[in-house]
Amino acid sequence: MSYLCVKCDKKIEKQQSYEHQSKLFCEDCYMDILSPPKACDPWAVHSAQTFLKGKDKLSTLTPLQSKMVNYLKEKGEATAEEMIRNLNLTEEELRREFAVLRHMEVLRATKKGEKVYYLLF
Ligand SMILES: [Zn+2]
Repeated sequence: MSYLCVKCDKKIEKQQSYEHQSKLFCEDCYMDILSPPKACDPWAVHSAQTFLKGKDKLSTLTPLQSKMVNYLKEKGEATAEEMIRNLNLTEEELRREFAVLRHMEVLRATKKGEKVYYLLF
């Protein structure tokens, strides 16, 4: 004896049918009901952010990023010109890497008078 899946009308054998709220489903549809596909996964985004906030955050840095972080650890704060000069960066590299580090909440910038200083977050 066979049944029809109430959702997709596929023929299913009794032993391959799944009951849910007194209705019979094929395996595929039953799995869909149990774990509806999500367009976006807030939990995955959340874990990524949690991961970045952990103490392993600094181990994900590129060598260039580590150089900037270590320099600021030592100096406390530095201007862009100072970092470009002492770390052998181009201005573009500095801006790009800073944007990443700022996003990761590793570094931040503060304005003192006319000058912008970079420091640890
Ligand atoms: Zn089905």
